[in-house]
Amino acid sequence: MLEPAYQADVVIVGAGVAGLSAAHRLTSAGVTTAVLEAAPYPGGRMSTEKIDGFRLDRIGQLLSMSSMAYPELRLTPSLDTLALRPFAPGVLLHSNGRRHRAGALASPMSARRARGALYAVRALASAPRAASVRGVPSQTSLPRVRASAPLGTAVDQARLGAALARLAASPVERLLARPELPAAQALAARGVPARTIDGFLRPLLAALLCDPELTTSSRCADLALRAFVSGRLCVPEGGAEALPELLARTLPPGTVHTGVRVTSVATTSVTTAEHGEIRCRAVLLATDARTAAELLPGLRVPDFHPVTVVHHTTDEPPTTGTSLLLDADRGGPVAHTAVISQVDPSRAPAGRALISSTVLGTPPPDVDTAVRMHLARLYGTSTARWETLAVHHTPEAVPAMRPPHDLRRPVRLLAGLYVCGDHRDTSTVQGALHSSHRAATAILTDLGTAGSLHRAEPLRAAA
Ligand SMILES: Cc1cc2nc3c(=O)[nH]c(=O)nc-3n(C[C@H](O)[C@H](O)[C@H](O)COP(=O)(O)OP(=O)(O)OC[C@H]3O[C@@H](n4cnc5c(N)ncnc54)[C@H](O)[C@@H]3O)c2cc1C
Repeated sequence: MLEPAYQADVVIVGAGVAGLSAAHRLTSAGVTTAVLEAAPYPGGRMSTEKIDGFRLDRIGQLLSMSSMAYPELRLTPSLDTLALRPFAPGVLLHSNGRRHRAGALASPMSARRARGALYAVRALASAPRAASVRGVPSQTSLPRVRASAPLGTAVDQARLGAALARLAASPVERLLARPELPAAQALAARGVPARTIDGFLRPLLAALLCDPELTTSSRCADLALRAFVSGRLCVPEGGAEALPELLARTLPPGTVHTGVRVTSVATTSVTTAEHGEIRCRAVLLATDARTAAELLPGLRVPDFHPVTVVHHTTDEPPTTGTSLLLDADRGGPVAHTAVISQVDPSRAPAGRALISSTVLGTPPPDVDTAVRMHLARLYGTSTARWETLAVHHTPEAVPAMRPPHDLRRPVRLLAGLYVCGDHRDTSTVQGALHSSHRAATAILTDLGTAGSLHRAEPLRAAA
């Protein structure tokens, strides 16, 4: 029975992308919803700092434009208008002082095309300064690949192309039915040559999974590779926060309440530090994994991959265009880097370039100096005069997905108590959105189709 004291049908704890997208599905179904967010702004890990006209993400956010890879970006109400800025096709690999383009196809992959052309590698330049993405010839005019290229010999590349073509053509269910091992072991067990793993797959998967040691479940790694093969990598225009901002802006006014920290949850109420008890018919916990387990002891806390993102600016941008540059040699702390203002010009003021670089794992003590020295080698240019804008370190950035990894952790704990977020699915934006889709569906099923039984009421102040 609904009591007059209820303030919303559903209270969602946390206004990251999972909580906000669940709110969309619930409010669209006529269910009154209050989203309570502890921080002063929504967005969670997808926040963007603004400094002097620069837009600096806390996260080195890589999404995929492929609707096969990130279907929830298109399925979530209101996100279909999200503007995405693509990187150049494929990636640039830095190896032995040279840069090589790999996986450079302009359009989404078909298995047939992948087999023939996908993983041809082109050494761009021996003098890195001279490398220019604009100068890369078309795939058909690629010269023979040198055996020292990061993907190995032509035979190695043909094998890799065939393996990735199979991945691109495989339904998700088939990938999820494959034996599950740590990704590094699985790659070796599949007969992939060590130089192909170290020269290409390791740096690529490290970037996609934030896991330099490839301890991630091979099933999750297969999904990430499949996403890479089937579409271009991209970032949200205007910064990572564009995604949660769009979600928050298009909710009914008064749905999101920032600066409200939830201190306990039950099936019919939450207690907050600022407003006391808020009664409801159901609670959806949409926080990070650690907070979820603090509020609901018994929920599993995974290990996390730490991530540090370092932002620099210069008035002389390196010549890598819109490419994502990966270090295949592991010759310093930077896993991947890009002149992100070339990919998304809205992230820097006119005349300035923004270079965003990602360090995976525990960063070295003087991270900025180590990153600058490494970037000088990767870009083949002096970084001495580059200005550091921000160093963002997130110790618990991405939940580890070690095997056995359950990609569909239950989101319904009890009638009235639900949980979602990237820790219930894959540790990605897609995983966060998909888990919230599952949770919203479960809530709507449990509440029945009657929709809202009362109007949402404003939060009262704490007594
Ligand atoms: C450095 C980094 C790099 C990443 N790279 C990628 C990538 O390349 N590709 C990709 O797809 N994903 C990437 N991710 C992961 C992606 O950002 C997350 O999966 C996604 O943002 C998680 O969203 P969420 O809503 O589940 O959780 P969160 O964004 O963590 O949202 C949880 C919200 O709950 C709030 N909250 C916590 N406790 C309380 C409380 N007691 N009361 C009220 N509110 C509370 C928090 O303030 C937060 O706003 C990366 C993440 C990081 C940090």
